[in-house]
Amino acid sequence: MATAHLHRLGDLWLGSEPAQRLRLRQTSLAMVLMVISVAMLHYAVRIGGGERGLALWAWTVYSLGGMAAIYATIRSGWSLHFPDPSLTRLQIAFAISAAALGYAQAGPLRGACFPVLTLILMFGMFQLRARSAYELSAFALVWFGGVMGVMAALKPASYPPAVEIGHFVMLACMLPAVAVLTARLSRIRRRLSDQRKELARALDQLQAIATRDELTGLPNRRQVQALMDQVLLRSLRHHHDFCIALADLDHFKRVNDLHGHSAGDAVLRAFAQAGQAAMRGTDVLARWGGEEFLVLMPDTAMPPALGGMERLREHTAALQVDVGGATVSVTVSIGLTGHRRGETLAQTLERADRLLYKAKAEGRNRVCVD
Ligand code: GH3
Ligand code: MG
Ligand code: MG
Repeated sequence: MATAHLHRLGDLWLGSEPAQRLRLRQTSLAMVLMVISVAMLHYAVRIGGGERGLALWAWTVYSLGGMAAIYATIRSGWSLHFPDPSLTRLQIAFAISAAALGYAQAGPLRGACFPVLTLILMFGMFQLRARSAYELSAFALVWFGGVMGVMAALKPASYPPAVEIGHFVMLACMLPAVAVLTARLSRIRRRLSDQRKELARALDQLQAIATRDELTGLPNRRQVQALMDQVLLRSLRHHHDFCIALADLDHFKRVNDLHGHSAGDAVLRAFAQAGQAAMRGTDVLARWGGEEFLVLMPDTAMPPALGGMERLREHTAALQVDVGGATVSVTVSIGLTGHRRGETLAQTLERADRLLYKAKAEGRNRVCVD
């Protein structure tokens, strides 16, 4: 019950969109740290004998109000219109200004602002680009330098110039170091992300090489074997019929002999293209080897399957392939059969092969069915 309430509160605070939730979580953490810093500064002013006047309250309103405004900008979705919807740089810049103004209030305990400043810059370590890291560290140096200068001029008793110069020199050494570390992290992140993209690309390429026939772009033998296994499993489960055909180009050796091997390749490509166009989207035309192709027709019974193969045969016979001046036409012989319950794929394929042989024997350019 209580956890359900907490969940609902969390949803109310962070919204439901994952990327937004991540952003708002980060901002919420910054807000908590800001509230702690405000409380600590009030404490420091109290025990350090600093002034608890208007300036302290103005600073409190500035710091808390600024964080609230940043939260509202992200939570409302308005920040999605900006190049960086997390507003990381804005948040860091704002926190730096608040820390520098806090430095002006903290009196003898102002040294506590330095670890806070480091913490603020650490927020950038996860997201900032190298350039932004350097810019923000320069921004911090300007803010703190300005505040130190003004305070040393206005209240030299509490902010002795010699001490402020020491503080400034320390910051001037520390801030660039933080920026260098952030920049290094950013480069590591970038390299990692590049490597991940490259790996994904290589994986895609490997996948294509492993499953496609290079010449025709059709699924290769290994791939269509896997597809047939899947279709067989599905047909066992749902009692759907499926058909398999083996198609072999007729007298293909002559094409090579008369026009050359590359002409033969062109004919194979043309057949692949025309074959795919002649078939339904759910049917698969694959290169089985050489000038032999396999057609897998899932969820298909014999009459429609025969219609499809007749169409493939006709489209093939109508092909006119232009091979460097000459025009080549081919025909195809097809052995078509349906898978029978209880038999293995090898048995179905064997029957298709026998039917293909029969089509050749009966004069080619025909479909034989069993
Ligand atoms: P049939 O009608 O009996 O099938 O006669 P065929 O000439 O088509 O059959 P055969 O098996 O005698 O010859 C097949 C030819 O296909 C031989 C081979 O060089 C050619 N071939 C196989 N793969 C390729 C290929 O990738 N490119 C080219 N250009 N030719 C190929
Ligand atoms: Mg042949
Ligand atoms: Mg052959």
